[in-house]
Amino acid sequence: MHVPDIIIAIDGYSSTGKSSFAKLIAKEFSFLYLDSGAMYRAVTLFAMRNGMISEEGAVDTGSLNDALQSLDIHFGKGADGWHTFIGEECVDQDIRTIGVSSNVSPVAVIPEVRRYVDTKLVEYGRAGRVVMDGRDIGTTVFPNADIKIFMVADDNVRAERRLKEMRASGQEADFATVLANLKSRDYIDSHRETSPLRQAEDAVVLDNTDMTLEDQMEWIKALIKSRYGE
Ligand code: C5P
Repeated sequence: MHVPDIIIAIDGYSSTGKSSFAKLIAKEFSFLYLDSGAMYRAVTLFAMRNGMISEEGAVDTGSLNDALQSLDIHFGKGADGWHTFIGEECVDQDIRTIGVSSNVSPVAVIPEVRRYVDTKLVEYGRAGRVVMDGRDIGTTVFPNADIKIFMVADDNVRAERRLKEMRASGQEADFATVLANLKSRDYIDSHRETSPLRQAEDAVVLDNTDMTLEDQMEWIKALIKSRYGE
């Protein structure tokens, strides 16, 4: 089907399958896919490696804000899609650990961190034909996005999916820990002062608890068809 040069913003709770869906959209429609969460994760990994997050999870905001001035986090294109880099180092694997998952939401609360990431995301999105997923894409990063989707799914189903993903990449974790992490991130993400996670007024809700990825593709194709024709 013909899809015009639009921006698709996908927001929603943790592990609702936003990135799997966005990746498939990008593949089928030849769009650029950008994972905004990867940027927040990379900032968090950097902060952890540089002793800016205590054992108890307290973030040394002053030092991190200073470091942002010269921090080089970017996406780089490889033969198999886009990767996340800190300087020269590809950190795709290291940003997916439970340690980073536990610390990322408190880091993403910091307004300077949000500004740092937003500036980069807007720059990457300038080219158009973009699908981007995150927590504030339809509300803050691309408030004029053509299609805004807000994804939700049952808590247990989300935790199962995340656990499966972690095990597939060789990480051991238990269901209760993963579920607790999802809930804690949802809470922090929805209650922070700067760009909290919320459904944009013009977003369409997609509850994919009982949907396959194929079902979701049918759903978005129908949505695009209803707005733009064939
Ligand atoms: O999408 P992912 O779960 O990898 O995102 C990790 C964390 O980054 C989220 O829990 C949230 O705290 C933060 N985030 C955000 N805004 C975005 C994307 C992610 O605050 N646009």
